[in-house]
Amino acid sequence: MNAYDKIASVVQQVTTGKKTTQEAIDAISTKDLTECLFSSSQGDTSGPLATGIAASPGAATGKLCLSVDNVLDTVDAGGAAIMVAMETGPADEPGMRWSAGIVTAHGGLASHAAIYSRGLGLPAVCGVNDLTVQESSITVGSIVINEGDIISIDGATGELFKGTIDISEAETPEELDTLLLWCDEARKGCLGVRANADTSEEAAEAIRSGADGIGLCRTEHMFLGDRLPAIRKVLTAEDEKSQRTALIELRDIQKQDFVNVLEPMEGKPVTVRLLDAPLHEFLEDNEEQNPMLGLRGVRLALAIEGLYRTQTQALIAAVEQRIEDGQIPAVEIMVPLIAIEKELEAILEAIAEEIQKSPIPIPLGTMIETPRAALIAGELAQHVDFISFGTNDLTQMTFGFSRDDVEATVINEYIKKEILEESPFSTLDQIGVGELIKAAIEKSKEANPTIKIGICGEHGGDPKSIRFLSDIGVDYVSCSPPRLPIARLVSAQQSIL
Ligand code: PEP
Ligand code: MG
Repeated sequence: MNAYDKIASVVQQVTTGKKTTQEAIDAISTKDLTECLFSSSQGDTSGPLATGIAASPGAATGKLCLSVDNVLDTVDAGGAAIMVAMETGPADEPGMRWSAGIVTAHGGLASHAAIYSRGLGLPAVCGVNDLTVQESSITVGSIVINEGDIISIDGATGELFKGTIDISEAETPEELDTLLLWCDEARKGCLGVRANADTSEEAAEAIRSGADGIGLCRTEHMFLGDRLPAIRKVLTAEDEKSQRTALIELRDIQKQDFVNVLEPMEGKPVTVRLLDAPLHEFLEDNEEQNPMLGLRGVRLALAIEGLYRTQTQALIAAVEQRIEDGQIPAVEIMVPLIAIEKELEAILEAIAEEIQKSPIPIPLGTMIETPRAALIAGELAQHVDFISFGTNDLTQMTFGFSRDDVEATVINEYIKKEILEESPFSTLDQIGVGELIKAAIEKSKEANPTIKIGICGEHGGDPKSIRFLSDIGVDYVSCSPPRLPIARLVSAQQSIL
């Protein structure tokens, strides 16, 4: 029986009294759900041209497009586009949004292309080592494909094909909604399931997909595409006056962004992560040599006075606006990339005056993304209401594996040589990163017994990782909206154990 029929039949067995809801929840696997939720390829007779990292599930066929303009022209003309690039960044967002699939030569599961594609539910293949991108063609091994030619991908297997392939489309039975509602009933009071969502569309999708709230709203994602100049002005201002002007502009834009995200949320909590803009993605001529470990997150906020205060003002203005419009929103503020207690203290002090002006209480939290933050979680926990593990960065920094390029170059080889069983960016490394998280949770709870614990790295949508995290005392996971049904099912199965 295929997964579609299996879900339909299991739900019917409950309605006819042959199974309990618990038995129904246990009878469905995450593989069954994945099969229904994402399209997949049946391959083609000549096999794939190349295989990269399976970065976001789903299969797609379309014209090879090498620029945002080309994607938009292709889609305007009624075609489907597969956007191909060496790597993607914020400026590519308008093209990515309209593409049927994404391919990059660099990058892995936690790269910009992968995270963005998973958020949108788009198939993506990253880290295709054999791929080089020219101005109007690509070369894969020795084969040249011109812009406009048809290519296909399967983001669950990481395969890239020339020409078309047979695609089995995603199809969910109407009984799935019933099953997921039973899951929500079963997991009440147990592991929460939130979404990583940055726009009103993603927030609406999160609500439709059953999220308990937003666990990560990446505010730098509000400055993509034609919004880039606004953030670049803040990042590159040469004197105080121009910085102030740029920050005021940012505040006004961001207020409306927050209003838009809060609107569909029906008062459910929204965790706003203050700006964490990797400069190599946001600046045109960034000269930083080590961007993911350099001037990012809280470090940038301490260098640009007023940055987080301005974002806090924007959020509170949005809250006031929503209250005026008749909704009582729930928001939380989270500080990224902390490694030192005094960094956190400095930020909390900088935004304290604004927080006091808020018409609703705003819980404050910090991400735990650096091994040092995990080690001093007890000290950090005394200052905050919640912590959330950013397991993408925590994995990167614990292993010393760059999240941007290590997968294609090292991890695939390690898996072949059985040095690693799987990518730690996909499934949480329980004995290393997991131990660090476990110890950090214990220390935080000791220092602050009412503290809430979340996780918002990509592992929040991975079944094996969710099971582990639930067992070690995490209160909620947060994942991209298309993976929410999977997280709801796993959380329900855990609650029954
Ligand atoms: C993380 O590091 O896990 C995280 C959620 O933050 P980002 O992916 O935006 O760095
Ligand atoms: Mg991070």
